[in-house]
Amino acid sequence: MATINDNYLKLKAGYLFPEIARRVKTFAAANPDAPIIKLGIGDVTEPLPEACRSAMIKAIEDMGDRSTFKGYGPEQGYLWLREKIAQHDFQAKGCDIDASEIFISDGSKCDCGNILDILGDDNKIAVTDPVYPVYVDTNVMAGRTGEANDKGEYEGLVYLPISADNNFTAQIPTEKVDLIYLCFPNNPTGATATKEHLQAWVKYARENNSLLLFDAAYEAFITDPEIPHSIYEIEGAKDCAIEFRSFSKNAGFTGTRCALTVVPKNLTGKAKDGSDVEIWKLWNRRQATKFNGVSYIVQRGAEAVYSEAGQSQTKALISFYLENAKIIREKLTTAGLQVYGGVNAPYVWVKTPNGLSSWDFFDKLLQNANVVGTPGSGFGAAGEGYFRISAFNSRENVNEAMSRITANPF
Ligand SMILES: *Cc1c(COP(=O)(O)O)cnc(C)c1O
Repeated sequence: MATINDNYLKLKAGYLFPEIARRVKTFAAANPDAPIIKLGIGDVTEPLPEACRSAMIKAIEDMGDRSTFKGYGPEQGYLWLREKIAQHDFQAKGCDIDASEIFISDGSKCDCGNILDILGDDNKIAVTDPVYPVYVDTNVMAGRTGEANDKGEYEGLVYLPISADNNFTAQIPTEKVDLIYLCFPNNPTGATATKEHLQAWVKYARENNSLLLFDAAYEAFITDPEIPHSIYEIEGAKDCAIEFRSFSKNAGFTGTRCALTVVPKNLTGKAKDGSDVEIWKLWNRRQATKFNGVSYIVQRGAEAVYSEAGQSQTKALISFYLENAKIIREKLTTAGLQVYGGVNAPYVWVKTPNGLSSWDFFDKLLQNANVVGTPGSGFGAAGEGYFRISAFNSRENVNEAMSRITANPF
């Protein structure tokens, strides 16, 4: 009989979003006329920028002509896209990143999981608590953890608690860890990191030969000029950090699929025999073997983000969601709730009132206002007592949801 990967059995059943869906379904069945508004899942709602759509339509035409038809592209992505990214997202911001260090992919979620392919299974891994669940679950699947306890914490992982007390930025660990997942602007808390905080992480990583896995999926939401967009804005980060970026949240590509991972050429890891090996070479080999690239059409769509029209259209999209976040922050504050995030990020992180648990608050919001959010406890034990509201929705839905919440004090 074929056996299975038993690590999958360690994953906590009743994962966050299925449980939300179950409760919403039960409520909707009992209240068929309730006008439910979902401010839960982190998916965009507004249509793709016109510049991206036109570029993709033109790319489809290219595919229909023998002279411009494209078969397999480079596994690393087309150079014309990688060069635009290197120039606009990195070099223009003072980061010394070359096109050859950029790998195009079909998603940051995939890359965050796939990166474990090339990293040793004896690494000590740190994640924040609360955290984007993908970092934890991919480590569980890859057998890098033990079992979960009843709080949902996996044996073998180092959890770095983040809360209002530390501005939702983790304290630099006193023990030695090898891999650290950082996400700024943060999902789920909407927090950002100052340059000083990132400098402290880079210093720690260099002193301990650790590797930072920096998820910058929400960098486009940063409007404060003091906040770094990339880990490579920090001196020395090229020796100790991989950065994940995505077109999902800045250009609405969640359903179109295009992202990128930056692996600096001078980044090294230790082999079992003690030698230093270039991580770039391993990732390049992995991608060339297990991946056949992102569709030509989609890469042309992503390239259009860097055109003049694409830049102004994506800026408008971001401003739209940030205005939603502002409305959410203001209305919830008026309703007497303590809110965090939502300034340089599309998520507002709410302290549940009156000591309610995250799930109790979820049920109350659903019952009283027919609004769906995400319980903070679903992102980790330290998320208990918090609640995530997403700014990804139409203005109409945001306004309606907020007026219902303010009309129903808790
Ligand atoms: C949305 C999101 C991503 C992007 O994932 P894609 O697979 O590129 O759509 C990455 N990291 C975090 C934390 C996210 O919330």
